[in-house]
Amino acid sequence: MFCPYCRYPDSRVVDSRTTDDGLAIRRRRQCPECGRRFSTTETASLNVIKRSGVVVPFSRDKIVSGVRKACQGRPVTDSDLAILAQRVEETVRLSGAAQIEANDIGLAILQPLRELDEVAYLRFASVYQGFDSLDDFEAAITLLRVEHEAARSSNDSEATVE
Ligand SMILES: [Zn+2]
Repeated sequence: MFCPYCRYPDSRVVDSRTTDDGLAIRRRRQCPECGRRFSTTETASLNVIKRSGVVVPFSRDKIVSGVRKACQGRPVTDSDLAILAQRVEETVRLSGAAQIEANDIGLAILQPLRELDEVAYLRFASVYQGFDSLDDFEAAITLLRVEHEAARSSNDSEATVE
């Protein structure tokens, strides 16, 4: 790593800390030649293989813009979207792979989006999973209903235990 000021080909790490989301390390460095300080950020590289076969770097911004369309008119804030994109990144990084299929990112979006807003989830799933009939919507809605019922009855049984 060259010093960005004088191009000296070496630097000394004076501080090193993990970023808040735990996904990167930020290092404060000092140039032994000119004495100036600069920062570097280190992350594991993560690439996405698109359906077309093109490989692009993973981008949280792209997750946010993809999901934002499905959230139009819904009570979802920019910070909700930022948190969702962070969760998606954490999920896909857990696999430990340096390259992931675009399809797996879509899958990783579904669960946190469903927790955020079920209407946005249905919209996103309908595009991503290629719903092409009312039956597909009906099946997805039925699944949500069944899970609501299950959540409700488990809450009931917890109440009974108390
Ligand atoms: Zn320097």
